[in-house]
Amino acid sequence: MNHLATERALNVPALDVAGIRAQFPILERQVHGRPLVYLDNAATSQTPLAVIDTFRDYYSRYNANIHRGLHTLADEATAAYEATRETVRAFLGAADRREIVFTRGTTEAINLVANSWGRANLKAGDEVLVSLLEHHSNIVPWQLLASQLGVVVKVIPVDERGVLDLAAYRALFTERTRLVAVNHVSNAFGTVNPVGELAAIAHQHGARILVDGAQAAPHQRIDVREIDADFYTFSGHKVYGPTGAGALYGKAELLEAMPPWQGGGEMIKSVSFDVPTTFAEVPHKFEAGTPAIAEVIALGVALDWVDNVGIERIGGWESILLERATAAISRIEGLRLLGTAPDKAGVLSFVVDGVHSQDIALLIDQLGVAIRTGNHCAQPLLAHFGVTATCRASFAVYNTLEEVEVFAESLERVVGMVR
Ligand code: PLP
Repeated sequence: MNHLATERALNVPALDVAGIRAQFPILERQVHGRPLVYLDNAATSQTPLAVIDTFRDYYSRYNANIHRGLHTLADEATAAYEATRETVRAFLGAADRREIVFTRGTTEAINLVANSWGRANLKAGDEVLVSLLEHHSNIVPWQLLASQLGVVVKVIPVDERGVLDLAAYRALFTERTRLVAVNHVSNAFGTVNPVGELAAIAHQHGARILVDGAQAAPHQRIDVREIDADFYTFSGHKVYGPTGAGALYGKAELLEAMPPWQGGGEMIKSVSFDVPTTFAEVPHKFEAGTPAIAEVIALGVALDWVDNVGIERIGGWESILLERATAAISRIEGLRLLGTAPDKAGVLSFVVDGVHSQDIALLIDQLGVAIRTGNHCAQPLLAHFGVTATCRASFAVYNTLEEVEVFAESLERVVGMVR
């Protein structure tokens, strides 16, 4: 069966994986003499030609600084940059373009909230709830506030499947709880968190909620208004876009009340040594200096590309890949999956008894298969499960069932070699 026929048989509406793959030149690469099987998508996804071409087009035709020039190139660059703001607004289901702040990615977006909203709203003894499933980028900024302001960081536990314990979550709230910071999808285990429910509970207690959407944005439709997120973040390089561009969504009234976190050009209304300096309206108040113009424009192209393919179809196909891969590698003796939540995105984390995860990743790379090994920037979670590293395979829309087979067979072979 060709890809298209396979997908039809599996009831994925007309997803032409072969046609999609043809748009990703990197997938034609050979690694150690074998066809690349790229299964490190949760770290960074590959970019289609439309995104790659955006850079050539930008630097060949309209490279100029934005928001300041009164010349054609500056106008064109500004229009393209601001057009991405509208694309991101629609992608996140936000009400207003002013609620979209461009950042370098999720890490910078969370640090923006911690340093601006956090410093303005939190004081010693106030509590921030983070989950055990968090990436370090949604832990360390709050720990920094803890050491600098005396804020208390409390941890929402998980059960043995890597699912958040909702009863424990409810029990953590006190009259000092000000913020909940949780991911929408865990990068280490793939757990999809019920962020709408978490938000409703946070709001009942008068707390705000920040949702780290780095791993959700590539797989499912996001609607920040339906979730009722106060803040939502994502990174372009995990959604078929470039590195260096991502976004923070914040409710308008929150962003408006927040102080700037970085000072410089573009974020001011007027600067004076005699009277107080005044700041630009949101979102520009939070975009000091020259931003990553080409990257932001390319992010817009990536999100249009995703929209064209259809995010539901992407998520549906990845679920099939995940299911097949889970079944295929579960055959391997001594293999233990970590993260077995009923609602999971395309991430497969595992360890094999008596075998170092690093050995697996190095040897399987020799067979052309790219997976990730390590702590996935989630050391507290892995420590809780008694491991320091796992192997992680993660899927994207361009992966095929044949690649899943190659991965499972290669893994079996590698485990057999080192045991
Ligand atoms: N949060 C999650 C859940 C992630 O998976 C990642 C990246 O792996 C990040 C945050 C950090 O994203 P970035 O490095 O793009 O800022």
